[in-house]
Amino acid sequence: MQWNAELIAVGTELLLGNIANTDAQMLSEGLSTIGINVYYHTVVGDNPQRLREALDIARKRANIIITTGGLGPTYDDLTKQTICETFGLPLEFHEDIWEDICAYFTKRMKREDIPEGNKQQAMLPVGCTVLDNPVGTAPGCAFEKDGIHVLMLPGPPFECRYLFENRAKAYLEKLTHEKIYSHELRIFGMGESHVEQALHEIMVRGTNPTLAPYAKTGEVMLRATAKAPTEGEAEALLRPLIDEVRQVLGDVIYGEDVDSLEEVVLALLKERNMTLSAAESCTGGLIAKRFTDLPGASAAFRGGVVSYTSEVKESALGVPHELIEEHGAVSEAVACAMAEGCRRVCGSDIAVSVTGVAGPERDERDHPVGTVFIGLATKHGTICRQIDLSRGRSRGHIRTLAAHHAFDIVRRSLLHTVL
Ligand code: ATP
Ligand code: MG
Repeated sequence: MQWNAELIAVGTELLLGNIANTDAQMLSEGLSTIGINVYYHTVVGDNPQRLREALDIARKRANIIITTGGLGPTYDDLTKQTICETFGLPLEFHEDIWEDICAYFTKRMKREDIPEGNKQQAMLPVGCTVLDNPVGTAPGCAFEKDGIHVLMLPGPPFECRYLFENRAKAYLEKLTHEKIYSHELRIFGMGESHVEQALHEIMVRGTNPTLAPYAKTGEVMLRATAKAPTEGEAEALLRPLIDEVRQVLGDVIYGEDVDSLEEVVLALLKERNMTLSAAESCTGGLIAKRFTDLPGASAAFRGGVVSYTSEVKESALGVPHELIEEHGAVSEAVACAMAEGCRRVCGSDIAVSVTGVAGPERDERDHPVGTVFIGLATKHGTICRQIDLSRGRSRGHIRTLAAHHAFDIVRRSLLHTVL
């Protein structure tokens, strides 16, 4: 059975452009991970006539219809009624759901005066599967009619995601019988088109497992996906594929099923019982911020210095005045001196430094925007890499990419591929 889904977002505010249809984005991404193709996204206003028309079109071309929004208690929340009319199903009152809603009001909201309109939320299509909602008042629901599965999810993004992840997915996986398992490989230092070129033959080879690339800010993610009845069988399909990809791409792959470069750096530092510090100029503390966003960072991060001016580079990091005079603040020599100074001042095993031109103007020595030097000091010595981030779209983008590079250099030093 080939399952294909249509998403129907209900909400006039979406049509007016007041909000973006992030529920559809989240659902499409989630459905792809469980092997359900999404062929259409539809958006309709809070208007029963147009919703009916959209449903009539959707039921002709999809066997899974997922709606978002319009499950609330107000007069414009018409999704359930309209769907039930269209599919010829009556609504019935669920006492237990009404009790849950009352409890939500009294316990969470500390209110006894429950609006009458909320009773509507306890009305669900006869015989449906209830997708109960512990993070809000409106439960979702799912039913099958004439071979078409209809799932209704609430509009607020947090609730929609919660119900999809914790309720709807299980319902849908039962339909597809097979489960979908995937692993994500994270790549830094090779663009999407080069990754695709290097892996083209592997990517077009088969349908189970599959390999697909996704571009992220400054990096590429590869998702390897297999359909199989059990996790063990999926692993048996995925492992040889991942090994082959690793062989082709080598150490530009920085991690598997991880979220970020800094997460990998932290794990490597902990493994080796080593510490890091950062001297930052153009990144203005971004490296320290990203690293300390990670729980457990204190085990490995000693501290950092935001040495934005030459005076602070001199006074806080001991960068010689003459060095800055001679080479300029954005230079290899200064990046190295910053890293060495930071390592000394912070007492860390490794120090990374960043100095560069984030823009929008060139610096006083006429370096183009995106010129960045990254220094790295360890007990083995100091190195510097000059990086050209002129492709950066904005000041913020250049800073993000510079921090990516800084983490990657630290990662490579921990793997002994630099220094
Ligand atoms: P409620 O109980 O809050 O009324 P509901 O299921 O009726 O929930 P809506 O009234 O349609 O949902 O939308 C509630 C809020 O959720 C909207 O104001 C909007 O901020 C957000 N929202 C709705 N649909 C979407 C969507 N497709 N993508 C992102 N946000 C959405
Ligand atoms: Mg509503």
